[in-house]
Amino acid sequence: DHAKLFQPLTIRHKTLKNRITFGAHTANMSIDGLPSERHLGYYRERARGGAGMIVVEPVPVHQTAVLTGRQFRAGDDAVIPHFRKITDTVHEYGTVIIGQMFHVGAHGDWDNSFEASWSPSGLPSMHDSDVSHAMTEAEIETTIDCFVAQALRAKASGFDGIEMMAAYNALIEQFWSPYSNRRDDKYGGSFANRMRFSETLLTRMRKAVGEDFIIGMAISVDDSQPDIMSIEMHQEVAAWHDERGLYDYVSCGTGGYYDFPRIIPTFLYEDKLGAQYAEKIRQVVKHVKVQAESHIRTPDNAAYIVSSGQADMVSIVRGQIADPHWANKAKDDRAEDIRPCISCNQMCWGRRSRDYWISCLVNPSSGREFQWEGDTFKPAEQPKKVLVIGGGPAGLEAARVAAERGHSVTLAEATDKLGGQFRLAGMQPRRQQILDLIDWYERQLQQHQVQIRYNSLMEADEIGDFAADAVIVATGSLPSATGFQRALPMVAQMPGIDRGNVWSAEDVMRREAKLGKRVIVIDEGSNWRGCGTAWHLAEKGHEVIMVTPATYIGQEIQRTSADWPLRSRLKKMGVVFRTEAVVSEWHGNGATITSILDNEAERIAADSLVLALANEANTALTDALRAGGIAHQVIGDSLAPRHAPAAILEGRRLGLAV
Ligand code: SF4
Repeated sequence: DHAKLFQPLTIRHKTLKNRITFGAHTANMSIDGLPSERHLGYYRERARGGAGMIVVEPVPVHQTAVLTGRQFRAGDDAVIPHFRKITDTVHEYGTVIIGQMFHVGAHGDWDNSFEASWSPSGLPSMHDSDVSHAMTEAEIETTIDCFVAQALRAKASGFDGIEMMAAYNALIEQFWSPYSNRRDDKYGGSFANRMRFSETLLTRMRKAVGEDFIIGMAISVDDSQPDIMSIEMHQEVAAWHDERGLYDYVSCGTGGYYDFPRIIPTFLYEDKLGAQYAEKIRQVVKHVKVQAESHIRTPDNAAYIVSSGQADMVSIVRGQIADPHWANKAKDDRAEDIRPCISCNQMCWGRRSRDYWISCLVNPSSGREFQWEGDTFKPAEQPKKVLVIGGGPAGLEAARVAAERGHSVTLAEATDKLGGQFRLAGMQPRRQQILDLIDWYERQLQQHQVQIRYNSLMEADEIGDFAADAVIVATGSLPSATGFQRALPMVAQMPGIDRGNVWSAEDVMRREAKLGKRVIVIDEGSNWRGCGTAWHLAEKGHEVIMVTPATYIGQEIQRTSADWPLRSRLKKMGVVFRTEAVVSEWHGNGATITSILDNEAERIAADSLVLALANEANTALTDALRAGGIAHQVIGDSLAPRHAPAAILEGRRLGLAV
């Protein structure tokens, strides 16, 4: 029942127009610690797109609370006028806006604070083993004062309320949990004593900010560590705060520092991951509103949670990063027009984990709204005839954007399907969301009347005759012949490659490879190309041995936090990992595997060899166009190496420029 999702919800003095929140996450866009124009464009676009509530990323309340370099300044009134621009703008769209704040306790950057991080009992961080020291009572008082001061700063900035972050084992949770709180003063020991920090803080804060100001609390459940905070403990804590009216809503996410991949779950995890916990919290509270977070992707997911009573509202972050107009499209019954997030974490968490501002693989406008005026494009001044050759991600995006701007676009695709290599990736286990994205492109191209020519291998002379005003080449790449030189740093090329039973990862994903039982996969960079192929083969019952020069399997996808759960799945299926190693010779029925650490070689039997190597640019068409003097522009994997985010970004840029 989607209607329930759009029923207003009153929290304290504000009525949200719907149940959809763009929840707190570190967009990491500040400049010199101040909210930036990038922030303004980013949050405005989600308000314009219909979110009922926006929670702006956390402000660290004190110098010891800082987690990343691009966060807001701690404890500084200089942020106020900059936040004011954001809150005023968001309010213009009827969206409630909340400011998050945190102290991460033991996980703070101790070096940044010029002393050990602060925590209840001086335990090192679970995050990085950095040291912390047990807070004195004076430091507890200082921290409480800083929280209250930040709440007043948020009020002066025009926020409708604030959200305290206890989630992912931040300082508040560190006080709640007997694991991290081993104090024997009034802040530790008994349950009531462990609640004293948040109780004092919230009571003083309410007194300072007055009645007309929302106070929320963000928590997360980490199933892997019930000793630290089990769901039952979370229930007890939430019920205790609810009875005392200490906050107005609680937002329930998943994961923690021991189970990091569940904080921002990739496609390896099921949908609606946090709803089960939100439901348990909702069962024990009487007054506070409950929000579910974590992998709620589609309007159906969201509507189910709200209408079945699991939660009062939902936080959809990546869904609204991928499509800022998610809420309005859902409201207008246009779910099929929502550009789907593919739960890849490549450009959101993947960039944040490197301390860059966040963007999105499927929506390069994310973070660039202030430059590109959001996600709706200005019509072209002069409609042109545009020919795009190649229907992979770069070509699809260029064609879509050019057509949306009013150009007359033809897309020539060599095969009978769109998607190129991206489609092959979508055929790996659990990567269906990539196929959903390709389907979305297909629908958008139809809506914008792009002429699609399938099975169309256009030659240079045909392209010349077509007389387009702009020719965009996005013909992608081909399996590499020289990739071995990169894959095998110890040997110039692999002897025995011509001895048969050798296939490319593309052959496997196209289901064209004729493989024996025991298969060696050369996983060049240890990314999805090799890992997804190995997973597929293991699922099909092959005995799989992965050989990679990387230090560990999934090394290239480590920053998406998918590597650990991926390794665990491969291992459960019996895949054997040979890391820091290369295949130095193929024998047709086995391989010599050489360690790159000590050059030790070992021969192992195998029926087939699969090469998951970086591809090479397919330059056949561009060479011919150049020779024929036909003007053209090249994007995507035709300039290999390109990963999908770069291909889509190049498609977007050219679609806007043409
Ligand atoms: Fe979703 Fe990937 Fe975009 Fe992140 S980068 S919002 S996971 S599509």
